[in-house]
Amino acid sequence: MIPSKEYLRIPGPTPIPPRVLNAMNNPIIYHRSVEFGNVLGETIEGAKKIIKTSGDIFIFSSTGRGVMEATLVNSISPGERVLVLVNGNFGKIFADIIERFGAQVEILEFPWGEAVDINRFEDYLKNNRSIKAVFVIHCETSTGVVNNIEAIGKITSKYGIISIIDAVSSLGGIEISMDEWGLDFVLTASQKALMTPPGLGLVAVSSKGWKAVEKSTNSRYYWDFRMYKEAQNRIPKQTPFTSPVSLILGLDEALKMIVEEGIDNVIERHFQVAKAFRDRIKSYGLKLFPKKEEWCSNTVTAVKSPKEVDSDLIIKFLKERFNLRIANGLGNLKDKIFRVGHMGYQAEEIETRAVALAIKSVLEENLNF
Ligand SMILES: *Cc1c(COP(=O)(O)O)cnc(C)c1O
Repeated sequence: MIPSKEYLRIPGPTPIPPRVLNAMNNPIIYHRSVEFGNVLGETIEGAKKIIKTSGDIFIFSSTGRGVMEATLVNSISPGERVLVLVNGNFGKIFADIIERFGAQVEILEFPWGEAVDINRFEDYLKNNRSIKAVFVIHCETSTGVVNNIEAIGKITSKYGIISIIDAVSSLGGIEISMDEWGLDFVLTASQKALMTPPGLGLVAVSSKGWKAVEKSTNSRYYWDFRMYKEAQNRIPKQTPFTSPVSLILGLDEALKMIVEEGIDNVIERHFQVAKAFRDRIKSYGLKLFPKKEEWCSNTVTAVKSPKEVDSDLIIKFLKERFNLRIANGLGNLKDKIFRVGHMGYQAEEIETRAVALAIKSVLEENLNF
């Protein structure tokens, strides 16, 4: 075993393809030059193809939570009634961030391991007509469950309210069709299925979403979408503050790789890899955490630890024996489940099979399963 070669199979950050590493390995260019303006323009065009939107896209120096905050300070105003659909840890985090900005947060909670129940959601809106916006996580990374964003988009369009979708661990691995599904804000980050190091946040905004940006009375400076739009309309295209030049060079390359393969092929590959992984895991007698297979994410799989074994130990032996790193459960699920990422550059069948086999080996040989 080569000690320095770690197999990173956590659900983000994910490994970076050599093409992306090479693209970043370039001198810094002036962030207000024509040369950089062209790269920024290309990156935005690439992102539009993957999010399937003709709306605006803004790129921030930020992690995922940064753009969660960015989106809410631009989309709602203090005192407004908003609904958060919570079926895992990231949904809870979203509700927590929103509360700090003075919105009137209402939470519709669903059991962890289940998807958002669309009928319950629609009933809630029917009975609460003054709700202005709905926040939801596309792939709940903490439980490995995917929510039906297409159905949620149809309902928010019908009721004329704003939809805000966290697609951090889904975009680039699971279908999302922003314009067709009538979504208003789709946010994501660089370090998951987009195969780029941590440090960039992206937000796509529909024209209906843009009206909300203009109406919002929240204080904002660093996150102000209006400043981003103004800078992008300059010639050459810019970001309002110093651009994260190297990361954007990397993201541009990663998006080109996705566009060359074809976004629909990329999504199909994620499905094939995830399905093969789930089938193997089940064939070993292990149980998936999501209660129905149709709810399982194609970017991350959450598996129940066998009763007598803490996830912590499985994780420890995988690291010691194979230099393979997977993730524990979050919050109440710590030591009860383990999570394996198979998104972006991880989504390759042979490697994902090897991960399944390695899990089987440590369970049998180190943990007497
Ligand atoms: C990873 C992730 C985030 C981002 O977390 P940061 O650590 O702030 O980058 C947000 N939402 C979901 C669903 C995620 O999986």
